[in-house]
Amino acid sequence: MSKFFALIPAAGSGSRIGEALPKQYIQLAGKPMIYHAIETLCSDMRIVHVIVVLSPNDSYWSEYDWSAFSSKLVVLNCGGATRAESVLNGLSTAGTFITITDDDWVMVHDAARPCLTTEQLAKLINELADDEVGGLLAVPVADTLKRSDKSLRATTTEPREGLWQAQTPQMFRYRLLTNALSDTDGINVTDDASAIEALGLHPKLVLGDSQNFKVTYPQDLALAELILQKRKIP
Ligand code: C5P
Repeated sequence: MSKFFALIPAAGSGSRIGEALPKQYIQLAGKPMIYHAIETLCSDMRIVHVIVVLSPNDSYWSEYDWSAFSSKLVVLNCGGATRAESVLNGLSTAGTFITITDDDWVMVHDAARPCLTTEQLAKLINELADDEVGGLLAVPVADTLKRSDKSLRATTTEPREGLWQAQTPQMFRYRLLTNALSDTDGINVTDDASAIEALGLHPKLVLGDSQNFKVTYPQDLALAELILQKRKIP
């Protein structure tokens, strides 16, 4: 039987949010942003370990109390220069600390998506546990898409049929994902699924929820805070 693991790449600086504190540690609903993703992933009984990949220079992690998750957390200071590098380093290093077999599933989830729900996570696992390739949470593009020229004028309207916004978690088998990311050869893959697609495979799109957005810009913080606070109300 394949086991389930989660891996959170959290070695980014989050420069687009414009704060000195790395994005994953910005406070949301009274906790550092990454806490919410860890809490959701740890709450699923099927997930054996949640692997957190920090920057080798991270000086913030140890300032917080993670004891609620100590039975599941594996913390590694092996982040790289890109997200793909952080994930790949995390996969390789985790293999030396814990027993992961080639066919075990790994769910890679951005630290910057604090609003993932246990329901979405369960749906992803349920829909993919018997899949040949694996897949990801995603939502169909809702807005009309414009292509711009250099002076920021719309030149054409792109058809949005068949276009999806990729989210995380993205769930693939340990060996396939490790090989796919190793093979990208410096090509900048911004998510795990694109490395799998580069092998000619077709990850399954599992319908997610727009609340699982990636906190990227300063204005995203207020929305994430609102969603998380609302969920605290019984
Ligand atoms: O910067 P962005 O929000 O796209 O990053 C997505 C995720 O990848 C975040 O959780 C971030 O911490 C992580 N990341 C990483 N190593 C990097 C760059 C980003 O772990 N070098």
